[in-house]
Amino acid sequence: MSDIPTTALAIATAVRAGELSARAVLEDHLARIEAGDGEINAFNLVMADEARAAADAVDRVVAAGGDPGVLAGVPLAVKDNLCTRGVPTTCSSRILEGWRPPYDATVVQRVAAAGAISVGKTNLDEFAMGSSTENSAFGPTRNPRDTSRVPGGSSGGSAAAVAAGFAPLSLGSDTGGSIRQPAALCGVVGVKPTYGLVSRYGLIAFASSLDQIGPFSTTVADSALLLEAIAGHDPLDSTSIAAPAPSLLSVLDQGVAGLRVGLVTELMGEGIAPDVAARVREAAEALAAAGAEVGEVSVPAASYGLSAYYLIAPAEASSNLARYDGVRYGMRVDAETTAEMNTATRTAGFGAEVKRRIMLGTYALSAGYYDAYYGKALKVRTLICRDFATAYERFDVLLTPTSPTTAFRFGEKTADPLSMYLNDICTIPTNLAGHPAMSVPFGSGTDGMPVGVQLLAPALGEPTMFRAAAVLEAAAPSEVAR
Ligand code: GLN
Repeated sequence: MSDIPTTALAIATAVRAGELSARAVLEDHLARIEAGDGEINAFNLVMADEARAAADAVDRVVAAGGDPGVLAGVPLAVKDNLCTRGVPTTCSSRILEGWRPPYDATVVQRVAAAGAISVGKTNLDEFAMGSSTENSAFGPTRNPRDTSRVPGGSSGGSAAAVAAGFAPLSLGSDTGGSIRQPAALCGVVGVKPTYGLVSRYGLIAFASSLDQIGPFSTTVADSALLLEAIAGHDPLDSTSIAAPAPSLLSVLDQGVAGLRVGLVTELMGEGIAPDVAARVREAAEALAAAGAEVGEVSVPAASYGLSAYYLIAPAEASSNLARYDGVRYGMRVDAETTAEMNTATRTAGFGAEVKRRIMLGTYALSAGYYDAYYGKALKVRTLICRDFATAYERFDVLLTPTSPTTAFRFGEKTADPLSMYLNDICTIPTNLAGHPAMSVPFGSGTDGMPVGVQLLAPALGEPTMFRAAAVLEAAAPSEVAR
């Protein structure tokens, strides 16, 4: 084994101090990818040449007495729905075949400016639609903890890359749980920030009112480090919050004494596997033992989150994905007329789940049905926001499972979209509210697979959420050896 540190904080500290070269760190990780990714399939593309050039540039800055930044020399994997200038960006879809973005996403720019080394683009469910990464046009990603099981999704490649040790950090996107659910299933930390805290500029849109970019890491502190680096106002995203990035690393050791923690009743009962619910209760006890006041809280409208999401997200997707017409991006299948060319391109370019969402969304927005479906879903969204507001009058953070089960096996849920959608029951309400949430590993299920517990906080409540996460991390039971 190499003596390269495993956390981003330790790597960046050593690189900035000139004790370790970014190039050595990179070569170590490229070797791990080379050895392991044939089986895991976390990456759609490994950017070895670009990464070597970036690592050498970091080393030159250190040699010249400069500071390359807080992420100096840290290998980082980027979900393949984030634009990288001149580098193929596919959304794991055939329809973007051959397309190279003319610009970098703001987050890609910010991590580079902080000295991180982008090592590659990670696999996902096509256009981020899914919960298992089985919807990728390039084959599924495997869970590094048990390769007969899914890594979760849609950011399955980003979660697996961190869990497999291919990179200490990765970036994902979360529209209904796509960072938190795969983090839980792979046994790593995953954070969905407050809507608007991280710029969406250069994130290929799925459902714009829900999409948010966030970190994966093996430790709570590393997610804090990455979130601090990518958060903060960006004039290129009209929904970006005009506030500075929150200070997170500095609050991690503040503990939870006096913090009010609410266990969400609606998300602890039906549909939640007993072993997962047991870990969440133990997490609540751990917070109580650290001085938090733990109680139960009802968020009644949370039960309708899934139904509202599967109208709102497809509705927005049907509009966002209309741009893939065979003219402006990627693939084209020629035909007699323009309309036939559009149809032939979309038929060949989109997978089954993407087609299903476009049809659902188009239906929900069509004349005569708009009020009954889309309009009603928006009302439910408002109710969810109100119920959370009421809950946060009495509690500072909320606690739930991240996913109702541990990682399932390939093919187990592909035949039944509804059972796949039910994976997101605990994660979706916060996307609808725009609030932050994160998944922290907390022991394992009866099958020995990791369990994630979810912490929720009101808008811009990241500092409090991270304090509780640090306590959970310290108290987490060790996992059963597999
Ligand atoms: N699994 C959910 C879906 O398929 C969430 C996806 C996401 O967060 N991007 O819509």
